[in-house]
This record gives sequence, C-alpha cells and structure tokens, in this order.
Amino acid sequence: MVTSDNIADLAWEKMQGLLPCMVQDSTSGRLLMQGYMNVEALTETLASGKVTFFSRSKQRLWMKGESSGNELLLESVTADCDNDALLVQARPQGPTCHLGTESCWVPPQQPVASELIELERTIAARKADLAAGNPGKSYTAKLLNDGIRRCAQKVGEEGVEVALAAVAQNDEALLNESADLLYHLLVVLQARDLSLEDVVNVLRERRKD
Ligand code: AMP
Ligand code: ZN
Ligand code: ZN
Ligand code: ZN
Repeated sequence: MVTSDNIADLAWEKMQGLLPCMVQDSTSGRLLMQGYMNVEALTETLASGKVTFFSRSKQRLWMKGESSGNELLLESVTADCDNDALLVQARPQGPTCHLGTESCWVPPQQPVASELIELERTIAARKADLAAGNPGKSYTAKLLNDGIRRCAQKVGEEGVEVALAAVAQNDEALLNESADLLYHLLVVLQARDLSLEDVVNVLRERRKD
C-alpha cells in the first residue's frame, strides 16, 4: 500500500517524475480510467481522499471531477512490482469518462462479479425511480412497491425452483432458476437497504477463520 510515508520509494527518477496510474472501481473491479501522477498529485490524492492527477495537457494538478462533480473517492493506492506504476481503487461518484460512460473502456465482456454489480445498480436505480414517484413499467419497481413480504416470497419461490431443477438434473432449468434467484436476492437485499458487498463482507470474514 502506498501511503504518505513511502511515496519516496516509488521509481520517480526512472519515470521522470510521472507515474502511470490505473483507476479501478473498488466494488465492481471495473477499470475506469488511466492518468498520470507526480509526487504532488499523489500527495494531494492521499491527503484529500479524492483522486488527483497531473494533467499533461493542462500542465497542472487535476482533481478528477473538478468541473463535472464526478469525483473518485479514494480507497487505496498500490504500486506494481517495480514501483513504476500505480493502481488506485476508488468509488466513482458518477460516470468517470468525460464522454459520459462509467468507464473509459468498453470491453466486450464484463467480469462475472462486475456483471452482478451492474444488475444491482440497475435495481438500485429502479428503487430510486420508485422513491421519486416514477416507477414506469419496471417489474423491479413494482416488486419493491409490493413490499418486503412479496420480495421475500419471490426469493423463497425461486429457491425452491432452483432445488427442484437441480434434483431433476435439468441443467437448462437450473441455470434459468439460478438467474431468477440471484436477481430476486439482489431485490430483497435492496428492499432492506443492503448490498451484495455487505454479503461478500460476511464471506470475507469467514475466509479469515
Ligand atoms: P472532470 O475532471 O470530470 O471535471 O473533467 C474535466 C475535464 O477533464 C474534461 O473536460 C476532460 O477534458 C477531462 N477528463 C475528464 N475525465 C476524463 C477521463 N476519464 N479521461 C480523460 N480526460 C478526462
Ligand atoms: Zn512496473
Ligand atoms: Zn474517457
Ligand atoms: Zn423462476
């Protein structure tokens, strides 16, 4: 982990004062953007908790989100094996790319965990729409509006359907019912203001014993 105490250990001289820095969404693992940091930018990032680069085009410190408001809240900074490149994990407060997309890259396939986080964020957006009084035709919004008992009942139903498909050795049904169960599980968690990350934190704790 890079901290204010070990900034000097990085390969600044070799890199002529500028280290490439990859930013990753700390929840989904998705790569968001790439920039450069000098000592000043890194110091500012660690002190403020907001990811700040040295802009080569502007030739000055540039806090990501300074005009758009789409800041990157710092979780951690780590250096690579030979200390000449940085990885920042952060929580984006809006689309990171200046073109309005979540990431500066659109790879053809998202990692598995990232796909689940995307689904959770869609469900959270439907919940926000519902709270704002415009649920539209969304099934998710309707389910959330029906209340916790209905959401919980769906999890129970889908769980039983998963079990039945497994016993019947019907793999196609097992996959479909598992997808239903994962979706409804995310909905019931959202209904209780809990997240996939909260569940994974329980698994992380268990892994430690
Ligand atoms: P922002 O830091 O989001 O307020 O954006 C300010 C300016 O920085 C934009 O108008 C772009 O010129 C540039 N910019 C913002 N985000 C990115 C990005 N992800 N990659 C490259 N340039 C960016
Ligand atoms: Zn390296
Ligand atoms: Zn971009
Ligand atoms: Zn089902």
